[in-house]
Amino acid sequence: MSPTAETGPRSNRGDLLVANIGQLLTLGGYMEPRTGKALLDLGIVRDAAILIEAGRIKAVGPQDKVLPDAEGVEVLDAGGKVVMPGFVDAHTHAAFAGSREGELASKLAGKSYAQIAQEGGGIPSTVMATRAATKEQVMTETKDRVRRMVAQGTTTVEMKSGYGLSLDEELKLLEVISQVAGEMPVNVVPTFLGAHAVPEEHRDNPEGYVDYLVEEVLPSDALKGVARYCDVFVEEGFFSSHQGKRILLAGQRHGMASKVHADELTSCGGAELAAEVGAISADHLLFSTDVGLKAMAHSRTIAVLLPGTSFSSLSLPYCDARRVIDHGLGVALGTDLSPNSWIESMQFVISLACYKLRMHPEEAISAATINAAWAIGMAAEVGSIEVGKRADLLLLRVSDYREIPYRIASNLVDRVVKDGVMVFEG
Ligand code: ZN
Repeated sequence: MSPTAETGPRSNRGDLLVANIGQLLTLGGYMEPRTGKALLDLGIVRDAAILIEAGRIKAVGPQDKVLPDAEGVEVLDAGGKVVMPGFVDAHTHAAFAGSREGELASKLAGKSYAQIAQEGGGIPSTVMATRAATKEQVMTETKDRVRRMVAQGTTTVEMKSGYGLSLDEELKLLEVISQVAGEMPVNVVPTFLGAHAVPEEHRDNPEGYVDYLVEEVLPSDALKGVARYCDVFVEEGFFSSHQGKRILLAGQRHGMASKVHADELTSCGGAELAAEVGAISADHLLFSTDVGLKAMAHSRTIAVLLPGTSFSSLSLPYCDARRVIDHGLGVALGTDLSPNSWIESMQFVISLACYKLRMHPEEAISAATINAAWAIGMAAEVGSIEVGKRADLLLLRVSDYREIPYRIASNLVDRVVKDGVMVFEG
């Protein structure tokens, strides 16, 4: 297995001309995560074309400038509609077994995430189901989800372990994640989330579980090179900021950069911790302090906002995205796909970002593409349509990008091109 993203086998490494693009969103032109006003700049080119060679962007711009270099190349006609980069989903828990549809009734009865977990639902129940399933079963269920994600425009996805909570069971999930990367037309960035919850067998001694992660799991040879990031759920009833720091620093010693589930349910120092350890991202940030957000801006930690979690919780507020943007932070979006919040569509997340977080359509699209790529260390490869990058493109059914958030919960993706090869046709 490799810590770097991989893509699946292709019948041919695409050479392609995407022509007759009415509105091309390149998202190009910046060497760092977009903040402030830069989030509004989609790098739009009208009447455009893209020339792809061996799966990479060779030329992009006004059609009359690109065409002379494209003689004899297979043509894909965009029909005068919108073309944009494939979505980058910066935060998922897509590898698991089972489902938890019964918890909707508990949520409707007013129970919180923590209460549901304490009553044996929540993460512990998915840990049981995932441990009981074979690797092949988890693989089949995960691939099924990824297939639908691709059909809705996601071409790069961060995927966390975290439903195994022992060395062997976490390795099982990381192997599933690696296999998905090898077999599906999607880039996958693997994250180790052994600190997702304290497992049942350590319930009476949570500190003992932290010791186990720091002293046995993270240093183990079997985990070497398997995950790019180490993530911790810093939250009351899960892991304290102090425990999170121990785990993240151990992860760094063993080659994993840091990510933090920060301030999702309470204000518990998650944003401050992310800044202190130099995390690439801190995710959720519903209850972060001004001090924490300021520290994140200083450490250039990206804010990954996950409005789907608030939507499906029935009890959480939505993140104040305007406050996060005003602090000068780069913002990214993700589905947070998990058995708690089963959302596969980045298009739906973009709608939520606009209608519930009050982000502008341009900000939400930047956050779902190039900034999400920055949040998972993939900005050199994906997230914008620029010469040299992977040719991961969406051909949409609409003529104006503002229809993406506006037309809620319908799949506007007509075709998905991954590494220059068409992998979905609607
Ligand atoms: Zn999460």
